[in-house]
Amino acid sequence: MLQTALHFSHTLLKEVIQVGDIVVDATMGNGNDTAFLAELVGSTGLVYAFDVQEKALINTEKKLTELGLKDQTTLLHQGHETLGEAIPEETQLTAAIFNLGYLPKSDKQVITKPDTTKKALDALLARLKPKGRIILVVYYGHTGGEAELALVQEYSQKLPQEEYSVLTYQFINQKNNPPILFCFEKK
Ligand code: SAM
Repeated sequence: MLQTALHFSHTLLKEVIQVGDIVVDATMGNGNDTAFLAELVGSTGLVYAFDVQEKALINTEKKLTELGLKDQTTLLHQGHETLGEAIPEETQLTAAIFNLGYLPKSDKQVITKPDTTKKALDALLARLKPKGRIILVVYYGHTGGEAELALVQEYSQKLPQEEYSVLTYQFINQKNNPPILFCFEKK
């Protein structure tokens, strides 16, 4: 059976991340991706995770502690647009993931936005290792979602093909705006 965009995002991450790597969860939420990444990098690696909502940090910290994965994470209560200041420029990142949209069962007004997403992407590309991947799972059915999807599409299409391979993965016959996945791989 074909994988959902969310499942496929994990497949793409698993293919490149190794124990000891440094990676980013740009939208921590309830910490599902943070925990997945922390497992892959192991106790010698590091996951930087960002979110603007305190609730996200509380939920994620609880999850990681229960799973014994807290030590290999740095949870930041700040927007991913601060990534350029939070992560030293010489750090070589293997991968990053964004789940763009709002946190389910939470405040639907707190959504990711095009200008902050772009700023984070610029900082990530500058730190991405060769063969490293940035993955965006874009939910766009909510107010403001279409603008964010447009930004990600435009940003992706402008990446030079000599430097990046860019993939989209989308179910085109499904109702209710299923998320669209984008993957940038550095050559
Ligand atoms: N990956 C998450 C999980 O596993 O539960 C779900 C992420 S949810 C779709 C989007 C998250 O982005 C929300 O928790 C929201 O608070 C967060 N967010 C919104 N603006 C942000 C920003 N500028 N920087 C970082 N996170 C942001």
